[in-house]
Amino acid sequence: MYKRCRTAPANIRRHLRQEAGFGCAICGNPLIENAHIIEYSLTRQFPPEDMVALCPNCHTEADIGRFQKWYLRQVKKEPFNKKRQTIGKRFLITGEKTIVHLGSVNFTDTHRIMTANDFDLISITKQEDGFLLLDVNLFDILNGFIAIIHENNWLVDKRYAWDIQYKPQQLKIYCASRNILFDIGIKNEEVFITGRLYFNGFPISIGSKSIKIGSNEIGGSSSFTGSEHAIDIQLH
Ligand SMILES: [Zn+2]
Repeated sequence: MYKRCRTAPANIRRHLRQEAGFGCAICGNPLIENAHIIEYSLTRQFPPEDMVALCPNCHTEADIGRFQKWYLRQVKKEPFNKKRQTIGKRFLITGEKTIVHLGSVNFTDTHRIMTANDFDLISITKQEDGFLLLDVNLFDILNGFIAIIHENNWLVDKRYAWDIQYKPQQLKIYCASRNILFDIGIKNEEVFITGRLYFNGFPISIGSKSIKIGSNEIGGSSSFTGSEHAIDIQLH
């Protein structure tokens, strides 16, 4: 797991993430990797001045040479999420409260959104400037731990093909071969999550109106407020 992997140390990931405004420097996608402007094979290091936060799609384009080095340096200096023209297109919440809808369940200012056997599956943290930090753990039906979003960094088992689509304020991550979907969007300053995840081999379907494990609906239409609450699913 974790190819491309050469994962940069945590302090450099944090630096690049903040520098780029918590998203891809080119398109604003909150799902990011840390791209080398000077090829890693030449330096074998993680010099932050020669790296930039890019989403997996833009990173792939950069790797195949679609973006010139001067352009990567330019977006590093003036990333999508810090341009004046992108106000209203950024993946952030400007309001004081962070409201998250998961199925028919609403959360207000809740960090841990969904857990299974007290293991975090989906967590969201709002930064002071409103940008959202996502932590999501994705397992397949065989309980293989195949993808992680850790503070917006995308760490993934690249044996499987992932389809990542981003348009302003809407991120969709899909793995057809493992039948996994994670869809998160912001509408009218509120966050909406749907998807299909697994834990301990159980499918968890998060629709816009319900959450189901197999055919059993959970959660009802409850609301949670505060930092300690989460939907906790017991699956053994
Ligand atoms: Zn991008």
